[in-house]
Amino acid sequence: MIPDEDFYKVPEVPGPSKEEVRCLVMCHSRVKEGDVVLEVGCGTGGLTVELSRRAAKVYSVDKNPQALEVTLTNLRKLNPQGEVELILGDALEAMEDLPPYDLLVVGGSSGELEEIIRKAYQQLQAGGRVVVTAILLETRLRSLKVMEDLEMEPRIVEVFVARGRTTQMGTMMQGLNPVAIISGVKKL
Ligand code: SAH
Repeated sequence: MIPDEDFYKVPEVPGPSKEEVRCLVMCHSRVKEGDVVLEVGCGTGGLTVELSRRAAKVYSVDKNPQALEVTLTNLRKLNPQGEVELILGDALEAMEDLPPYDLLVVGGSSGELEEIIRKAYQQLQAGGRVVVTAILLETRLRSLKVMEDLEMEPRIVEVFVARGRTTQMGTMMQGLNPVAIISGVKKL
């Protein structure tokens, strides 16, 4: 896993997802060699770079042009050989005309979560996976509901990470924001 501080970052673009969270997303996504991945909301590219190190091809969408620039910088720095196509636009439009994929990763959806998952489901291979990272409470519930409706048997984990910081008194544990990871599988 790439250390957080290795990513180039600008204040206007969220991310990268913390190393511990990226680790769990990779684990729950079951991403593997040969996979084709669609990522919606690449932000700083925290997940994009990790995915591109493991999959055959990654399509990464963001509606913010600056996010794509930052992601590109991180890809050049951290995985120049990665097969990544960056697509500017709102997810629902950008998803048109993509070939079938094995994995959908949603890092941002701005109110279009259900539509994005339903649309992606049609292009998702049988046995393919959907993973959503959620900061908002509502995103947790909405992800579960739509995946249940699609009979994807969703599971959810919530991570509360605390990192040790050295102080004069000893090692102080400092908490990061909790993040939920909701995942489901398209039935064979
Ligand atoms: N996981 C990323 C951070 C994601 S931040 C990382 O590790 O770096 C979420 C991103 O989703 C933002 O850049 C935002 O512009 C994008 N986004 C939100 N809704 C979107 C939509 N409907 N279509 C495309 N991009 C979207």
